[in-house]
Amino acid sequence: MSRVLIVGAGLTGSVCACLLRRELPNKFKIVVWDKSRGAGGRMSTSRSPTDPVCTVDLGAQYITATPYYARIHHSFYEELLAQGILTPLASSVEGMMSKEEELKNYVTPKGVSSIVKHYLKESAGAEVFFDRHVTHVYKRGASWEVWRKDGEPEHFDAVVLTMPVPQILQLQGDVGSSNIYCTYKHTQSYTHMHTDKYKHTHI
Ligand SMILES: Cc1cc2nc3c(=O)[nH]c(=O)nc-3n(C[C@H](O)[C@H](O)[C@H](O)COP(=O)(O)OP(=O)(O)OC[C@H]3O[C@@H](n4cnc5c(N)ncnc54)[C@H](O)[C@@H]3O)c2cc1C
Repeated sequence: MSRVLIVGAGLTGSVCACLLRRELPNKFKIVVWDKSRGAGGRMSTSRSPTDPVCTVDLGAQYITATPYYARIHHSFYEELLAQGILTPLASSVEGMMSKEEELKNYVTPKGVSSIVKHYLKESAGAEVFFDRHVTHVYKRGASWEVWRKDGEPEHFDAVVLTMPVPQILQLQGDVGSSNIYCTYKHTQSYTHMHTDKYKHTHI
């Protein structure tokens, strides 16, 4: 069976794994590698070692949907709301300007990483590995040879890079070749199913 490697277990990587699984069930094996110790990326949630109920979101704290994104990503919001992963923000956001009144704001009762974990869970059968820092990606015939810190290289039939572009550009090997498929452009609408104002975080 063909193997696809998704590098990054943030929102983009998790949604990518979920959509690949839903659209092409049982067509190939999905493997996710992330250099961190857990899922979330810039949507990570930390828990107190003494009180697991006490959490703090590192990065995104709430999700904002413009009328446009609420419409085109309707099914994503419905799914997350139905499962209680998102819930409407009842109070006002300090400093919010009046022109932003049409925006819908959502919070995550279980921490913002619960969105990412939901999509990883929905990627049934995907193998998710942490502490896997990709350093080199080489094209070897029809497959890709992927090197990581502290480990032997592995071969995949396709590689999807979901980390921010500056981190993609730090990779050694054949990443600069026109053949590599960088999903950044294709998936940014999923990572930005809220407002446009965070687009600059990738550029
Ligand atoms: C301070 C802050 C506040 C924010 N507030 C909001 C908000 O209120 N609302 C909102 O909607 N959005 C907000 N955002 C933006 C939102 O967090 C991001 O748009 C979103 O999390 C990006 O997801 P991503 O999967 O594209 O990238 P990332 O979350 O960056 O995921 C990339 C993953 O790739 C991994 N990775 C990187 N390099 C490698 C490598 N070489 N090998 C293996 N793994 C690697 C990283 O560890 C990471 O887990 C905020 C961001 C920040 C930083």
